[in-house]
Amino acid sequence: MKLILLGAPGAGKGTVAKLLTKMDGSVQISTGDILRAAVAAGTELGKQAQAAMKAGDLVSDDLIMGIMGERLKEDDCKAGYLLDGFPRTIPQAEALKVLLADMGEELDMVVDIQVAKDVILDRLTTRRTCEGCGEIYNVKSNPPKEEGKCDKCGGAVTQREDETEEAISNRLDVYNEMTAPLAKFYAAEGILVSVDATSSDAVLDAIKAKLAS
Ligand code: ADP
Ligand code: ZN
Repeated sequence: MKLILLGAPGAGKGTVAKLLTKMDGSVQISTGDILRAAVAAGTELGKQAQAAMKAGDLVSDDLIMGIMGERLKEDDCKAGYLLDGFPRTIPQAEALKVLLADMGEELDMVVDIQVAKDVILDRLTTRRTCEGCGEIYNVKSNPPKEEGKCDKCGGAVTQREDETEEAISNRLDVYNEMTAPLAKFYAAEGILVSVDATSSDAVLDAIKAKLAS
């Protein structure tokens, strides 16, 4: 399947994407993960993205399209992909449309995961991420077995730099202003599915039902 996951920070896009990869071998492509890896490795890309990310602002469309133009042409995309955190602006969605048309590909579905703001705020402040493999934990509902250590890879489980109260609030504002309009964009293309759900399993069930119909 070729799918876009839309939804505010903390809506559970990454968790749903990971569950979906287990269904049919599609790959999860998270621009946030790609950028964080570049920052950690200190590459030129990382240096260009770091300041915007720390503040919870968006990285430039040009930089993102450079990354995704390459990424979507890799072999592992042939089995399908789940785009998590991309596109995030109307210009990125327009550029993706051109890119896919050039490649002769079509999206199956755009899933807009809707979660109440108080749930999102609570999730983001309690979320912890593995610096090694990107696995997501929650200090309240899903802590690693050993505090601060990833169950999967043994990496350090920490709070993201952009998960301070100030950066979180900015990320939500940026989402509402820049990314939320994508729902209308994809509704007009006839491929939008909105899912109102608080658990990732419920979101998964709704997606499965839609794929089957
Ligand atoms: P979130 O939890 O906010 O959905 P992500 O991991 O998707 O976080 O992204 C983290 C940060 O990386 C964003 O706040 C932004 O600075 C940058 N970023 C990720 N994807 C994009 C994109 N498609 N366009 C612009 N910036 C992006
Ligand atoms: Zn890990």
